[in-house]
Amino acid sequence: MTNVSVTLSEVKNYINGEFERNEQNSMDVISPLDGSKISSIPLSTTQDVNKAVQSAKNAFPEWSGMTLKERVQIFFRYRSLLEQNMDELTKLVQIENGKTYGEAKAEVEKSMELCEFAVSMPQIVVNEVQEVSKGVECRIERKPLGVVASITPFNFPNMVPHWTLPNALVLGNTMVMKPSELVPLSTVRMAELLKDAGLPNGVFNIVNGGKEVVEAICDHPDIEAVSFVGSTKVAKIVYKRATSNLKRCVALGGAKNHLLVFPDANPEMTASNVIASMSGCAGQRCMAASVMVGVDNVQHIIDLMVEDAKAIIPGDNLGSVISAEAKVRIEGYIDEAEKNGAKILLDGRNTTVKGKEGGFYVGPTIIDHVTIGMSVAREEIFGPVISIIRAKDLDEAIKIENGSNYGNAAAVFTQSGRLAKQVMDRASAGMIGVNIGVPVPREPFSFGGWNESKFGVGDITGRSSIEFWTQNKKTTTKWNPEAQTNWMS
Ligand code: NAD
Repeated sequence: MTNVSVTLSEVKNYINGEFERNEQNSMDVISPLDGSKISSIPLSTTQDVNKAVQSAKNAFPEWSGMTLKERVQIFFRYRSLLEQNMDELTKLVQIENGKTYGEAKAEVEKSMELCEFAVSMPQIVVNEVQEVSKGVECRIERKPLGVVASITPFNFPNMVPHWTLPNALVLGNTMVMKPSELVPLSTVRMAELLKDAGLPNGVFNIVNGGKEVVEAICDHPDIEAVSFVGSTKVAKIVYKRATSNLKRCVALGGAKNHLLVFPDANPEMTASNVIASMSGCAGQRCMAASVMVGVDNVQHIIDLMVEDAKAIIPGDNLGSVISAEAKVRIEGYIDEAEKNGAKILLDGRNTTVKGKEGGFYVGPTIIDHVTIGMSVAREEIFGPVISIIRAKDLDEAIKIENGSNYGNAAAVFTQSGRLAKQVMDRASAGMIGVNIGVPVPREPFSFGGWNESKFGVGDITGRSSIEFWTQNKKTTTKWNPEAQTNWMS
């Protein structure tokens, strides 16, 4: 058992304010830090989903009947509880996901920021009213959808659930959440803290498991909207299945983020940003740098990158990757690139950490002279690996970036405003960084990619999410008997 001061017990579903676990198939939860078993989850069935949806459906009339201002009070308290329990929540993320303490803490802090946006909804969601004819008023009100679902991935066990949970609930919906089966523990703690904050039973429910749960969510007639975050392969399945069942859906997928580096870029700043972007969270961020396009001669920056990356020590300032399978997959990509003639400048294969020999570690890896046909140039590796492709000029660099099927993030490193603006305008990605390696928009700006990094209309957070979690009710009123008869009478 990994030595952290958090309580680890078997994971239960959370339905109507109660934790419950039936006799059903289960799956072990493994800490990637050292490979030890830390818990187990139920592999829930369609019946469990049905029960959770019924609980959310029962809770909807009362919850949606409260005012927005009343609902946000619970999230003011919840945000404080996140802060008060920061250390424990951080350690939970660390133990189930394998991040460093600092990375895990940053995740919980971001969850607090997401709650801050949610509690500001009464200042933002102000309905519209206008006197459209003498004595006749039209008004538009935002109404919740009903029961909604949120399906989350392994890489941010605390933050990604908060992309959806606070906004959807504050806006009056009730929710069924399906966390990643690899990292189910943080969500359990969220449910407990939400209850402590005063959230009524049934407003938030958790069903643990895998594919069967996701399919039951996509098929359930009483679920109005499905939000998904995960790989592109599964995002496509979920988007097709949920929308074919006439639900609204936003499904965020994988990424292959390109950083375009020009010779005039500040060398130290660029090298440290590129390395932090590719290795932070062990490269398991959907915003991580995956390809660096070096334009013209950037050898001096690459040399600095190698020096910077050598200071990254697995098990110290670099966490683990999520599983044994992930380690094999990542190392397989490096093997293949090497076989195809790329040059490995820094090799993170066969890494072990003393005292944590059962953990899943890959050291920072820099692969140079990658060509666009190689799988390391095209596919999401999701590990601390950066592939360097050389380009002769801006047009060639943009063409390489535009050639990706994905489009989550892209960044440019230069001191030239002209070059930066060219990349801002021409990169085919939803989130652009200028001299920033991980260009995550902070609240209230919304998060979401382009191309195969996102399916559906709008983004998942910020103002854009208000559109997703609500529907407009348009009411026309006439209280004035003297108003002349017209076509609206
Ligand atoms: P995943 O797609 O394997 O799993 C995501 C969710 O889908 C999990 O809850 C899982 O149980 C479920 N699932 C898995 N296979 C399924 C199937 N066949 N049918 C139905 N449901 C299934 O993703 P992951 O490995 O947990 O997370 C990593 C991926 O998520 C990466 O591709 C990463 O880029 C992506 N991601 C994207 C964003 C973004 O904002 N675009 C953010 C975070 C993570």
